[in-house]
Amino acid sequence: MIQSVRGMHDILPDEIKYWQYIYNTAFKILDTANYQEIRTPIVESQSLFLRSIGENTDIVGKEIYTLIDRGQRELALRPEGTASIARAILEHKLCDQGKTQKLWYLGPMFRYERPQQGRQRQFHQLGIECYGSQSPVLDAEVIYLAYRILDQLNCPSLCIELNSIGNNAERTRYENSLREYLQMYINDLDPETIQKINSNTLRILDSKNLHIQNILSEAPNLEDHLQIESKKHFEDVQQYLQDLNIKFTLNSKLVRGLDYYNNTVFEIKTQELGAQDTVCGGGRYDNLTKQLGGNAIHAMGWGIGIERLLLLVQNQVSVSSTKICFYIATQRHEYVTYALNLLPIIHKNSLKYELDISGRSLKKQMQKANKQDAMICIILGAEEIAQEKITLKWLDTHKQKTCSIEGFMELIPEIIKDYNHLQSSKILELKT
Ligand code: ATP
Ligand code: MG
Repeated sequence: MIQSVRGMHDILPDEIKYWQYIYNTAFKILDTANYQEIRTPIVESQSLFLRSIGENTDIVGKEIYTLIDRGQRELALRPEGTASIARAILEHKLCDQGKTQKLWYLGPMFRYERPQQGRQRQFHQLGIECYGSQSPVLDAEVIYLAYRILDQLNCPSLCIELNSIGNNAERTRYENSLREYLQMYINDLDPETIQKINSNTLRILDSKNLHIQNILSEAPNLEDHLQIESKKHFEDVQQYLQDLNIKFTLNSKLVRGLDYYNNTVFEIKTQELGAQDTVCGGGRYDNLTKQLGGNAIHAMGWGIGIERLLLLVQNQVSVSSTKICFYIATQRHEYVTYALNLLPIIHKNSLKYELDISGRSLKKQMQKANKQDAMICIILGAEEIAQEKITLKWLDTHKQKTCSIEGFMELIPEIIKDYNHLQSSKILELKT
């Protein structure tokens, strides 16, 4: 049997309820903040990611899926969303004449990594990109929005880690002093770290290797290499976060894995996910559009990994599907044609229904209605058909009513009221 590709998973109906819950919650919060959704293609030119994320990063060096199409184009499956959106901003001139853009997206990303809990080869990110402002207020608001969404989704024990990696010049200066420092320990370093000294120096800072962390304990500090402007920006971001009542911790070793960041970088972690503990990562990227051949446009954003978020959310809440309002059961199969008259009325009122066309006995159909936890079973038996009527049976109270189709239409407002009441208490339940 053919199976799905390693690290790429089907999302089945039982799980999709949680995806819809996440999408709807994020949509509400981001729409409130006047963000608009954007959808870009999954396939882009390879060069887009080489020029933005950087050739010496893990993503481009080891993880990216590349392909050559029949026209010999060098393409890649997108490993993240930010580069594609920067391309779209430039291509469609969305930020010309100093316009700002507040955009959000949710979609699949691809990275060739070792699959494990919270790490797939096709995974999904929800992200925002805010273009057009250099103000530290924006940094704080963007971080606030990530926190709002995670908090609203009941994610437990969240911790925001914050750092500033300064501007390009400051970072280059820091990289030089870090390199110099690490040269003193060169005989103590593993080959992978030695390779990073020249290709991706900053990334050594967030190494999980304890031996490396020991060596780094006396290393020069990034913060000491920031000059007045970057320092002020970073302090302002912290002040605005405090004004928004957002708690954070400073982590001077947080650098993030992509080349395009400058100044503010942050991650949101949780203690509930084991090794894959980062749910959200983001920061400022004021030079990304310039790196892609356009003007530099100030920007800030983040990405949340949906699969990791799901692991958290599914532990906290149970989301049920909406209830079936009408289960339509017929005594003889040919009565189904009569039932069809009801569908336009039901659809007009968006009341969820199931029309039983199994041809099984009426008793069996009513058992199924109970099993599916429908609110009302509509029964079309020989008597009903003879009198051009229908019978409604409320399955919880066993109350029963026989009426004409016009009578049914008159009952609809009352039914909607009952239905909404039942619905609101059932869809989302907190697990204690
Ligand atoms: P990690 O250090 O865990 O590999 P990252 O720094 O590569 O993460 P980003 O590029 O910042 O991750 O992506 C943002 C978020 O997307 C991550 O915090 C994580 O939640 C999620 N994510 C990244 N890679 C994967 C993956 N392979 N599978 C599932 N989720 C992922
Ligand atoms: Mg990674």
